[in-house]
Amino acid sequence: MTEGPGTIVVVEDDPNIADLVDMYLRRDGFRVVQASSGESGLEAVDREHPRLVVVDIGLPKRMDGLELCRTLRGTSDVPIVILTARDSEIDRVLGLELGADDYVTKPFSPRELLARIRAILRRADPPGRGGPKPVLKVGEVEVDVDRHEVRAGGALVPLTAREFDLLAFLAENEGLVLSRRQLLDGVWGPDWVGDDRTVDVHVRQLRKKLGSALALSTVWGVGYRLG
Ligand code: CA
Repeated sequence: MTEGPGTIVVVEDDPNIADLVDMYLRRDGFRVVQASSGESGLEAVDREHPRLVVVDIGLPKRMDGLELCRTLRGTSDVPIVILTARDSEIDRVLGLELGADDYVTKPFSPRELLARIRAILRRADPPGRGGPKPVLKVGEVEVDVDRHEVRAGGALVPLTAREFDLLAFLAENEGLVLSRRQLLDGVWGPDWVGDDRTVDVHVRQLRKKLGSALALSTVWGVGYRLG
């Protein structure tokens, strides 16, 4: 489907970190384009149409990493991984609410970053999948897995890559109660290290975007059920 691992744009103003990430990604076969500010990062994404963007939150000039995410999400569903030096939950959640697909906290191991990037890309564009998949329909919500499109009451609803994966996973398991852990394993992957609340944040986004069309129940003390 895609030739080679593709291009990744790395938006990071610290040249040491940028070069380290660059080196690891290249070693894995990616083509890397670096940008040292939000503004130049945005230009690079427009120009390169990368498969994924790595964004540092703390960027100089007017457009910081959060602002860059917000701007990118206005026009694109390219997967975004955030780098943050601020180890507070609020920033993490904020990053996810802005539509990032994952984050790592500085200081991070480049290996961990790479594992997360690989996992996101595997989900976004799985290799060797078979024929066309059916459109999953739960109530008024339709999930077209092949076209990566979601409709609510017939109207197209833009979702981030992660929100889409979560909704598709819930739809594939229609009627079953899924725990946060099962959702993390199924959507984020068993290697993902993070807070269960990540699931809640994404569920909140799905509810906000799909409104009453989404027949998603919270099962108290257990998790969630769609349909
Ligand atoms: Ca920085």
